[in-house]
Amino acid sequence: MIQKKAIVVGSGILGMAAAKSLSELNYQVTVFERSLKAEGSSIRNFGMVWPIGQHSNKYLERALQSRDTWTNICKNAGIWHHSSGSLQLFTNKIELEMANEFYDAEIHHRSNLKILTAEKCLEMAPNLNQKNVIGGLFSSTEVIVESREAIRVIPTYLAAKYNIEFNFGKTIVESTTGKVKTSDGETYLADIIIICSGYETNLLYPSIFETAPITISQLNMLRSAPIAHQIPAICAGLSYLHYDSYSTLSQKNEYQNFCLEKYPNQVKNGIHLLVSQNHELALTIGDSHEYGNQLDPFQSQDIDQFILDYYAEIMNKNDIQIAQRWMGKYLKMTNGESEWIQEVENGVFIFNGPGGAGMTLGWGMAHEIIPKIA
Ligand SMILES: Cc1cc2nc3c(=O)[nH]c(=O)nc-3n(C[C@H](O)[C@H](O)[C@H](O)COP(=O)(O)OP(=O)(O)OC[C@H]3O[C@@H](n4cnc5c(N)ncnc54)[C@H](O)[C@@H]3O)c2cc1C
Repeated sequence: MIQKKAIVVGSGILGMAAAKSLSELNYQVTVFERSLKAEGSSIRNFGMVWPIGQHSNKYLERALQSRDTWTNICKNAGIWHHSSGSLQLFTNKIELEMANEFYDAEIHHRSNLKILTAEKCLEMAPNLNQKNVIGGLFSSTEVIVESREAIRVIPTYLAAKYNIEFNFGKTIVESTTGKVKTSDGETYLADIIIICSGYETNLLYPSIFETAPITISQLNMLRSAPIAHQIPAICAGLSYLHYDSYSTLSQKNEYQNFCLEKYPNQVKNGIHLLVSQNHELALTIGDSHEYGNQLDPFQSQDIDQFILDYYAEIMNKNDIQIAQRWMGKYLKMTNGESEWIQEVENGVFIFNGPGGAGMTLGWGMAHEIIPKIA
């Protein structure tokens, strides 16, 4: 029997997830990555595999499935990962009330949730701001990977275990039914082509990009030097305004108004606090969100400072020295969905859309969707 061939464009998390799923369907898969090593969104993130952010009626199961895939791959490939859980820290009454409502609604879906006193939070995170924090919500489902390491190591693992070949340093300049063309003029044939080119999908399909329900989101990120203790992944009150899992909380609008008064600069710049810790105990701290298809490339010190100001409300700022700063981008859907799967030509599919949750949803998204289109 002749084996079917698949081509995947891009070796970020979505490209790798699509390649793995295609290989599991017995395709012979070739991945083309423009860079010599991945440098897109997938290595610029917090490495947070974050089921707590997914709504139990929507993508919680997908996130948990992705989390399990991450854990298996990391174990088998010898990649560092940490089942850190997440600790959402609160500094006022409305945030605690929202946590209680979330707990009551979700405990049947997430059996591991706990509302913690400030003292218990301090045991888990000795560097929290003891003056402000009054309690927290702990969830044990979250896993952290060091994405800049993991995303670059996984291709070697996938190539050894599956029928997948990776070609780095090869840009696809044209794709059409049954074939792609590289910048050095070579043509490759396939039965199916999956475009996982992240926020640069406009380069291959500009007219489709212009009319798709998507925008670019640009984020400021910081990394500290290593700190003295290991902590769970941290978020705080402003995260209520960012995650789908909290979208149905009854006080959400009231809280939004409260934040507009108390944290106007943070709300204006789409800031909430996320803190993940890597194997060296360094903290990745963020983030802000700026939206639009033409964004200035200049990282604003003001925005970094607003992130750090909010960090100081929640955590002890004297513990950290900033060692790195960078910006990242991803495509965010403007219609509230989290999948942009579009057959742009017969057998050529755009595979995109999870926005700020690609690390959380990627493996599960491919596992569910690729068998439906391949
Ligand atoms: C700052 C930041 C923080 C984030 N934090 C988290 C987090 O903690 N948890 C979470 O779940 N999600 C997070 N996300 C979201 C997540 O990182 C993205 O959803 C995910 O990385 C998108 O993966 P991707 O494979 O679509 O894109 P990318 O990782 O950008 O990969 C696309 C790849 O395609 C390649 N490419 C493009 N065009 C071509 C071409 N023509 N030919 C060949 N190759 C091409 C690019 O070089 C690139 O390597 C974050 C994102 C950012 C930016």
